[in-house]
Amino acid sequence: MESPVDRRKALKTIGGLSAVLAGGAAAGVAADRYLRSGDSAARTEKPAPALATAKPSDRARGHGMITWAVETRKKLIALTFDDGPVPNYTPLVLDALDEEKVPATFFLVGRTLTRNPKILDGRIDRHEIGNHSWLHKSLNDLGDYEAVRTDLTQAHEAIAKITGREVRLLRPPFGHLGAVPMRVADGLGYRVVLWSQGVVEASFQKDPDSVIPYVVDNVTPGTIFLAHDAVNTYEPVFLRRLGPIIRQLRAKGYEFVTVSDLMAEREEGATLITTKG
Ligand SMILES: [Zn+2]
Repeated sequence: MESPVDRRKALKTIGGLSAVLAGGAAAGVAADRYLRSGDSAARTEKPAPALATAKPSDRARGHGMITWAVETRKKLIALTFDDGPVPNYTPLVLDALDEEKVPATFFLVGRTLTRNPKILDGRIDRHEIGNHSWLHKSLNDLGDYEAVRTDLTQAHEAIAKITGREVRLLRPPFGHLGAVPMRVADGLGYRVVLWSQGVVEASFQKDPDSVIPYVVDNVTPGTIFLAHDAVNTYEPVFLRRLGPIIRQLRAKGYEFVTVSDLMAEREEGATLITTKG
């Protein structure tokens, strides 16, 4: 049974997520509706020059897809960690994942990676990595197609140089998405990944162990789970309890996979369970 406190926390999380997804949904509609939709472009009454300046060299498909969970009957979960790599907590996360021999997906900030180029050395063979932008600013606020493209390309190239990998997943900072970032992601061949569940470390500072049942009781098949390995202001209660959380989820039959492996498990007709009961 989930306690009233847990339910409040869960609702808070879901409320936050729906706000994010409402922003993300704007990406899928026509540009004219986007401009009337009340987002920053509409408020500042700027035109959308970005939509006319896509690089001819970009091989766009002409549409975009956002994944925040995967329809599957299998008990699969993809843990994701954003904003690193940083010296204080990324190794802690990697140690816990090594200990339990589970893969995860790290969405790297290009500038942060460039400042800490050695942290991932020899440690990410099992894991997937993705682009979390160069500056970690909302892509909606960067400007036109060229500005967003420059930011994402700079991160892409830094990740390639330092890790030797060409990444294909994009998680936009703060989950903010509009028509321009979606079109750039399409032009660069990225798949956009958000999340269906996650933890806010600040919520568990007074009762750190409550983060364990909060996660274990609420995960559902096909979950893409958001966490951060770069935590500045708060004690990283979730990161420090990764081991028991992984073990308890395993005891419930869950298997841990990367985001790409999870997306490959999509089953036609499987019902996506995004909330309990
Ligand atoms: Zn972030």
